Amino acid sequence: MSRRDTREVLLMGPGPSNCDPRVLRAMSEPTLGHLDPGFLAIMTETMDLLRSVFQTSNQLTLAMSGTGSAGMETSVVNMLEPGDRAIVCVHGVFGERLADAAARCGAEVTVVEAPRGEPVDPSKVRETLDRVKGAKLLGIVHAETSTGVLQPMADIVEMCKAHGMLVLVDAVTSLGGVPVDVDRSGFDFVFSGTQKCLSCPPGLSPITLNENALKVLNSRKTGVRSWYLDLTMIQRYWGHERFYHHTAPVNMIYALHEALSIIEEEGVKERFKRHAANSAALAAGLEAMGLKLLVASGYRLPSLTTVIIPEGIDDVPVRKRLLADYSIEIGGGLGALKGKIWRVGLMGHTSRRRNVILFLSALGTILRSMGFKADTAAALAAAGEIGS
Ligand SMILES: *Cc1c(COP(=O)(O)O)cnc(C)c1O
Repeated sequence: MSRRDTREVLLMGPGPSNCDPRVLRAMSEPTLGHLDPGFLAIMTETMDLLRSVFQTSNQLTLAMSGTGSAGMETSVVNMLEPGDRAIVCVHGVFGERLADAAARCGAEVTVVEAPRGEPVDPSKVRETLDRVKGAKLLGIVHAETSTGVLQPMADIVEMCKAHGMLVLVDAVTSLGGVPVDVDRSGFDFVFSGTQKCLSCPPGLSPITLNENALKVLNSRKTGVRSWYLDLTMIQRYWGHERFYHHTAPVNMIYALHEALSIIEEEGVKERFKRHAANSAALAAGLEAMGLKLLVASGYRLPSLTTVIIPEGIDDVPVRKRLLADYSIEIGGGLGALKGKIWRVGLMGHTSRRRNVILFLSALGTILRSMGFKADTAAALAAAGEIGS
């Protein structure tokens, strides 16, 4: 007989994050039929809870069956048709993926790049908007999990509105950790994932779209190229009709419902404050230890901190020791940053002060044993000075 090795690990990587035990218990409740009145009520409540965490009144707010990447694909495959023009801001791996997914829909994609570790410069977006005529939408990653940058959005959204373009936002690592504030921000189509700051297992992708995006969906000249992700059908499944499209992953929806209820109980403002305070403590601790962070202080993402691996230290042995000796998982670099940075997540249920302290002391001990003069005492003192 094989045995599953599912010992408890502190998940401080780029996702998944740890789940509140209440979420895991919700998943183990009896499976209902997906058209059972009890389950339909849970779906309806889940939509309400999603509106509240997205901070939107958008009617079409639901959870796609699939991880965050399914939400990304849903956004472009429903909004774009062959021959459309799209502009995609790329400041890391997830922007690269969004550009790739848009091109696969047959769109002509123009990319606006930023160096890895920096946000996209609005003046470069302006130049591109002036040069590329008739673009239908701009796609952008709000929280770049590959670099740890939180992208300022206001200027870019304003320019897109002036050009009559849709703003399509990847909020996979921001939703539930930092304000996304869909309506006030002017975002037209937003997608996220359950496994980051919502602290629910991977498997669902919350999305929301406003009237502008709905108009684009409903006036398509061609059918949506993906059958499974076609929102013209899925909106009838989640809406009043309950028209059968596919079977919703029933127990995953229980989990999301519970995770969102926990957020409602904490309050989004409190939750954002907690993420900001714990990441500030982590950043202060890492710097006091003698390490450097990749991202300048004004653009750091509270849910994910990127640390530059010091000279003379190898990436993989450190992460292996963290996992073997302390049951702590952190992430390595992606793409161009592979081997150069570590990615330390403090998302949702994982964003707690005791995890910051445990991680700093474990990392300090490991680095010292490998010859880097980490000042663990200074790190713990600096982290302790940041109020919660
Ligand atoms: C994790 C992540 C995704 C992909 O989500 P999956 O759940 O892994 O499919 C997309 N965008 C960003 C910014 C992410 O952090």
